[in-house]
Parts: sequence; structure tokens; C-alpha cells
Amino acid sequence: MTVVILDGKATAEKIISALKVKVSALRKKPGLGIVTVGNDSSSEIYVSGKVRACERVGMTAKRIVLDEDSTQDDVMNAIDDLNQDRNVHGYIVQLPLPKQIDASLVLDGILPHKDADGFSPINMGNMMAGKNVLLPATPKGIIRLLDEYKIDVSGKHAVVVGRSNIVGKPIALLLQQRNATVTMCHSMTKDLKKMTKQADIIVSAAGKAGIIKANMVKKGAVVIDVGISKEGDTIQGDVDFEKVKKIASYITPVPGGVGPMTVVMLLENTLECYNMSNMID
Ligand code: NAD
Repeated sequence: MTVVILDGKATAEKIISALKVKVSALRKKPGLGIVTVGNDSSSEIYVSGKVRACERVGMTAKRIVLDEDSTQDDVMNAIDDLNQDRNVHGYIVQLPLPKQIDASLVLDGILPHKDADGFSPINMGNMMAGKNVLLPATPKGIIRLLDEYKIDVSGKHAVVVGRSNIVGKPIALLLQQRNATVTMCHSMTKDLKKMTKQADIIVSAAGKAGIIKANMVKKGAVVIDVGISKEGDTIQGDVDFEKVKKIASYITPVPGGVGPMTVVMLLENTLECYNMSNMID
């Protein structure tokens, strides 16, 4: 079987070119705010990628960097500032947060029309209700990549591995909204192989390097790898790419698959926030 590699990098570049044109026509530059708390080295890599991407499309990026030992009040104050800043149209709080910070209170504090990550309860609820504004960037990026390659999910059996609020749950919901039949697996699933083996589409977001092996994949399945695990200087996905690509019909690489799509969907969301701010002003 000839496998098609789902090229997230190339697809993201196309979207960046389109965004550049849209942004250049605006009277003001859309602004993305990014709050980081602490010195998580992975977060720093992701955030600098987001800042660079903003600059490439002509958006501004405002960073608020808080110390590792910041209090809940420190973070809530930063959020209040961004809620009021008229040059910041959308913003994100980079997760994970240090353990003394209650992330759900932080997400509650983000104004829904400035919630560029789509993680606030109002936007999560809207997504649940099928009102798809400000969707979380990673699941939105996966759907866009499937669309780019004209992969129809309707009637297909999708197995999602992982049930986090930011990837597993929303991608399961979006696939189901597109008429896939969805099974959700997680760390307490008894027989993961039995589940994935039945899947027409596998989306793996466990963050466990190589857990999806060739003998767990049905011939011709579409395999989307969200996982990012650091192995020394390299990063690895959840999927044993070299072996699984011999069985799959479509597969995302890591890196160069879901990651670049996540970044550009954040930019698209920032533009949506900008457009909403003009309706509110
Ligand atoms: P998380 O730790 O919040 O959730 C992981 C999920 O995987 C949990 O629901 C857990 O039950 C499940 N899980 C863990 N081990 C399992 C196992 N052995 N079998 C079945 N399920 C298992 O993580 P997250 O924030 O959802 O992120 C998941 C992965 O995706 C991480 O590697 C993260 O770095 C990566 N990620 C990538 C992008 C991207 O743009 N490519 C974006 C977000 C997250």
C-alpha cells in the first residue's frame, strides 16, 4: 500500500501565506498575548515558535513572563491586564502551570472573545453545542489537515487515544460532529490494541513514545500522531512511524505533522479574536 504522508508543515505554510494577505489588509495589527509561568524548557520552545509565527504573518506578540513561584493572584492580575489591553486581541496562558496555580480558575478568567486557545469554559461549551468559534488549536489543526487531504471521516470508526481537555476530548467531539463513530481510549483502557485495531482513523495523543505499534493498526487506517516525547535531542511521536507507515493509508510525521498546524490555528484564532473585538468596540 502506498502511504500518503500528511504534510502539516507544507499545509501550515499555505495557511500562513493566506493569513499574511488578510492581516496586511487590516487597519491595525492583530495582537496575541502569551503568558508563561516558570521555566519549562518545552514551553519555551513552543512559545518562541508561536512568537516567530505571529511576526511572520504581521501580528504582534506580547509576552508576559512570570516566575516559577508566582501566586494565583499574580497570574490572575496578568490575565486582568490582558483582558483590558486593547492591543491584545487574543491571548493564551501556556500550559502546564506550576502546581500551586489552579489552571481552571485561570481559564475561567479569560474573556471568551479573547480566548485564543479556546480553553475557557464558555468556548468549550460552545464547541460542545456545535457552535464552532475559537476551537482549541490542535484539534482544529487536525481537522484542517484531514480536510486538506480530502479525508472524509463520515461513517468511519475513529479511535482517539487520550482524553485531555486540550486534545483528546475536543478532537473526539469534532470527529463525532463530522459523523465519525468515536471510541475514546485512555490510560485505564484495558486492551488498547483491541480498540486501535478496529479503527479506520487513529488519533493518538497519549504522549508516550511509540505506544502505537504496527500490530495495533488496521491495514489502510489513517494515523494522526499528536504525541511529542523528548528523547535526548530528538522528539518522537506516539506512533512507531517507520513500521506503521507500511500499513497506513495516511500518516502524520513527528515533527512536521500536527505541530505546525497547531501554531497556525492559533494565529487564525487570533484573527478571529481581532474580528470579534471590532464587533464589540
Ligand atoms: P495529557 O498528559 O493531558 O493527556 C494524556 C492522555 O493520554 C491522558 O488522557 C491519558 O489517560 C492518556 N494515556 C496516557 N498513557 C496512555 C496509555 N498507555 N494508553 C492509553 N492512553 C494513555 O496530555 P495532552 O496535553 O493531551 O498531550 C498529549 C500529547 O500530545 C503530549 O505528548 C503533548 O506534548 C502532545 N501535544 C502535541 C501538540 C502538537 O501541537 N503536536 C499539542 C498539544 C499536545
